[in-house]
Amino acid sequence: MDTSPLPAISARNPQQVRIAAAELVARAAPGHETWLVSLAADAAALGIEPGDTVGVIPPALAGQVEGVVAALGLVPGSPARATGDQPVGAWLSTRELSIPSMKLLRLAGLAPAPGPHSAAPPVPDALDVIASIPDAPAQADAILATLRPAAPRAFSLASSPREEERLDLIVGHHPTEREGRMRAGVASSLLTTAVGANAAIFPIPNPQFRLPDDGSDLLLIATGTGYGPFRAFLRERGLTGAPGRAWLVYGERGSGGEGGGERRSAFEDEFSAALASGSLSRVDVAMSTRQDGPRYVQEVLQEFGPDVVDWLDAGARIYACGNAGMVESIGGALAQVLVDELGISAGEAVAQVEGWRESGRLALDVFA
Ligand SMILES: Cc1cc2nc3c(=O)[nH]c(=O)nc-3n(C[C@H](O)[C@H](O)[C@H](O)COP(=O)(O)OP(=O)(O)OC[C@H]3O[C@@H](n4cnc5c(N)ncnc54)[C@H](O)[C@@H]3O)c2cc1C
Repeated sequence: MDTSPLPAISARNPQQVRIAAAELVARAAPGHETWLVSLAADAAALGIEPGDTVGVIPPALAGQVEGVVAALGLVPGSPARATGDQPVGAWLSTRELSIPSMKLLRLAGLAPAPGPHSAAPPVPDALDVIASIPDAPAQADAILATLRPAAPRAFSLASSPREEERLDLIVGHHPTEREGRMRAGVASSLLTTAVGANAAIFPIPNPQFRLPDDGSDLLLIATGTGYGPFRAFLRERGLTGAPGRAWLVYGERGSGGEGGGERRSAFEDEFSAALASGSLSRVDVAMSTRQDGPRYVQEVLQEFGPDVVDWLDAGARIYACGNAGMVESIGGALAQVLVDELGISAGEAVAQVEGWRESGRLALDVFA
């Protein structure tokens, strides 16, 4: 009997887990969806803790493989030089067909464009780029050689590892149609539309973004899917009965309100349940789509400055998670609260916030 240890689950050796459920939580606007996805996976066995990230290795989107095969004039069931022994179709389904590689862009004579992580869509994907090469079939092998393996996508654990056979993710999904083809994130498409299928996942530790084990109060500031790790924190504390209050300041676009009514918070029901159970002590939702003008999390901190100072005096730890613009502005917003409420100088306030950052009392997680 082979007693050698099993290889650790990693990007090179991911675990196949079933997508057990996917619920559309909110559609803020056409093509701007938030989903709650449950994987039949044991986060504890995978060593994934609240604050950690789950890596998902996405298969190509429906239509991308067929499109590349057709654009290159290949036979999907036959191998090509670049694919070794593998049939082209199967090989392509493991490649990065959404974010074109630099090599592919150069081969197509296109200036390298920023990828979808930093640019607003529409972004050309690999198929758009290949389709723009006039003699693509003649260069099929050279083109295939530019296609790298699919890059893993990151999603924060949004449940407690104590929940057996359940690993939740909050997933932003942005499907749009362009030039006759559906465009969307590869991993978000898999997670939200392929319930019952498998996803290949692996843990990505994030030791700087962990629940304190001393029962400190938590000031949690999130936008959009950045609520994910805080959902994990709250569920973990709810299940362990750990002491400490939690105040969530949540910025979102909300949904509904088309007929002139109020827009609804994506996680309204969850927040009410968490408040009732005591795992959440306070929640303030800032909606950027309000009829009477947008409201942002920074304004909530300013408006409730005296409460922020009370929580800080009580030893609260501060966490911010979400888009880069919000997370990077939180240090400045907190410093402004200190200036306004304590009457200290801007320099002193900035130094105070930097001290929290260095000591880990202020933890930031950017979804870039
Ligand atoms: C530490 C960390 C934690 C994160 N946690 C979360 C989380 O919990 N939840 C979450 O939702 N995100 C999270 N993110 C962000 C997430 O990893 C990225 O948004 C990732 O790109 C999503 O992968 P995807 O395959 O769905 O989209 P990608 O394929 O990477 O595409 C990115 C975006 O571009 C759009 N797009 C892609 N190709 C095209 C095209 N050709 N034309 C037009 N539009 C296009 C997609 O719709 C998508 O919105 C996290 C990021 C980090 C770094």
